[in-house]
Amino acid sequence: MTPRRARPITPAEDGKKARMGEARNGELRVAVAGAGLGGLCLAQGLRRIGIEVDVYERDTGPDIRPQGYRLHLDARAGLALERCLPPRLFELFQATCGQPSRRFTVLSRRLRVLHEVTGDSGQDPYAPGTLSTSVHRRTLRELLCAGLADRIHHGRAVTGYAIDGQGVQVRFADGDTARADLLVGADGVHSTVRRQLLPHAVVEDTGGRCLYGRTLLTDRTRALLPAALLEGFTAFVGGGVGLATGLVRLREQPPAAAARLAPEIRLSPAPDYLMWAVTARARDLGAAESELEKADPAALHALACRAVRTFHADLRELVAAAEVEQTFLAVIRSAERVPAWPPGRVTLLGDAIHAMSPARGSGANTALQDAALLCRALAERRDDSPAALVGAVGAYEERMRDYGFAAVAASREAEKRTGRVGSWLFRR
Ligand SMILES: Cc1cc2nc3c(=O)[nH]c(=O)nc-3n(C[C@H](O)[C@H](O)[C@H](O)COP(=O)(O)OP(=O)(O)OC[C@H]3O[C@@H](n4cnc5c(N)ncnc54)[C@H](O)[C@@H]3O)c2cc1C
Repeated sequence: MTPRRARPITPAEDGKKARMGEARNGELRVAVAGAGLGGLCLAQGLRRIGIEVDVYERDTGPDIRPQGYRLHLDARAGLALERCLPPRLFELFQATCGQPSRRFTVLSRRLRVLHEVTGDSGQDPYAPGTLSTSVHRRTLRELLCAGLADRIHHGRAVTGYAIDGQGVQVRFADGDTARADLLVGADGVHSTVRRQLLPHAVVEDTGGRCLYGRTLLTDRTRALLPAALLEGFTAFVGGGVGLATGLVRLREQPPAAAARLAPEIRLSPAPDYLMWAVTARARDLGAAESELEKADPAALHALACRAVRTFHADLRELVAAAEVEQTFLAVIRSAERVPAWPPGRVTLLGDAIHAMSPARGSGANTALQDAALLCRALAERRDDSPAALVGAVGAYEERMRDYGFAAVAASREAEKRTGRVGSWLFRR
């Protein structure tokens, strides 16, 4: 990407402009709703090309709710992160990826191997263009926040916006407002920004429910791991309930990697663990929808244990040995394709526009891809005029709709073909 404004902003200028809260001297100011993976990556990318950015996040802090553990990332994420992160942070990202997965195995509940796909050993799983790795979500989020402390505003729920001759006025739940030239709704599947921009957009509940948990690797739990689980991602099929597992063992402990590569950055330690996901329709989990919604981690864990009661004893024990308080429920939702809309000063990225089933492990990958593409479009706009800004947004949206909704369709197809989200058969 050719930086349009490569001149770095000094901390003094930066603070002054942040206090003013609006664009000056024809310089672009972007407001991002949502400090999820897509919004944070966008902020990193904009910062890198000298565009001012403020990220407004509803949560009051980065760790106030569980956000998941393991994420599979591929070349879409690799290329996007390489583009958006400063080189040192990208190196830190590569150092803290998971150990390579050698194989993807589908097994029966009784551990009979049904299908195996061996990875391409000739490709570097950590290079941007051939990335194929797992990451610890918290580590990735911490990395994406690095250097943005003064740009991320927690406890700032966006409730809507108004467009006027000067730009966009962003409204918050506390009655406050902020101004920007461009508002990006990166506020996830229930996006407030999308509801105002595209009130006709539909996000469907597929009926899939996923109980998500993790079991720390100790001498006892390691001894229970069937061989296939040590090799890579596994899916267990049979009956109305699926189980998917992935080991997370980072290449280097995040605090040590940060000390080596970017000592000013604090990363939390990440334990070795087995991520597991019990997937089914609500009725196959043996709970009414209303019960599931209200269930606390202990009740969800109990449901997960019950759901796998006919699985091999080692699998049952692995689920039973989980960190109970880390168990949570994911409701699987999928967006319907939205026909092209006229571009303007408000746009969307990630789950806010193309939420999808996790059946192919694509949601985070496309959110990061969107962030990099939008940065590039903004960097390449022909001048500082509002028309050029809207043109750049239009160019971004045209491509984003194509690959974004193609990924939604592929994920939906994978879910349908397998009959339930749980088998994750077509993930890679
Ligand atoms: C169980 C599970 C497993 C998954 N595994 C994978 C995988 O392996 N690989 C993969 O690529 N994808 C995976 N995904 C999908 C991936 O997690 C999402 O697609 C990705 O997090 C989307 O990023 P985002 O930035 O668009 O949204 P989010 O990460 O959802 O971030 C949205 C942010 O906006 C904030 N917000 C919401 N409303 C407001 C508001 N009004 N104002 C301000 N802030 C607001 C939220 O608090 C949140 O921080 C998985 C999903 C699930 C559920």
